[in-house]
Amino acid sequence: MRCEVCGKRIYGKPQKVVIEGAVMVVCGKCAKHGAIYHEPPKPKLKTSIKRNLSRSSPTVSTAKSTPKLEENLELVEGYGLKVRKAREKLGLSHEDLGRKIGEKVSVLKKIETEKMIPDNVLAKKLEHALQIKLLVEAKEPKIKYEALQSRRVKTLTLGDVANIKTRKAEDAKEREQ
Ligand SMILES: [Zn+2]
Repeated sequence: MRCEVCGKRIYGKPQKVVIEGAVMVVCGKCAKHGAIYHEPPKPKLKTSIKRNLSRSSPTVSTAKSTPKLEENLELVEGYGLKVRKAREKLGLSHEDLGRKIGEKVSVLKKIETEKMIPDNVLAKKLEHALQIKLLVEAKEPKIKYEALQSRRVKTLTLGDVANIKTRKAEDAKEREQ
């Protein structure tokens, strides 16, 4: 067992202390530089990583604006109005259209006001019944989103955490000299 601060072998009981927010196992001499570490219910380091990750990922919240569907398809913009106009053009009431595609009137009304996003199956039924196009190829390919995700994970890996720890240890060592 070696001291994480000075690197010397720890004789006797190693001590856990907090130095600049990092928990370290140190020797009796280096323990004086930090505050005695009290074991929390959850490891302190782990929660701080999580916080860092969520803070460095503003991309997640922006992704929800356009509904994503499977097969890289997404709903056209203004799909609600498109459905309503097409239905009215065909002289169909909500009830007529509902009967035609086997869907509840309330669901159709919600879709037309864009309070509800139809799934792929329902969107395709509407496309057929109304002779319109509701599903289009997604502008952004899925790969782009995955790339964003992997970049996000890369921002703080366990390796980085270890590096931070080592750096802290080195800083402390320098101060000691
Ligand atoms: Zn030490």
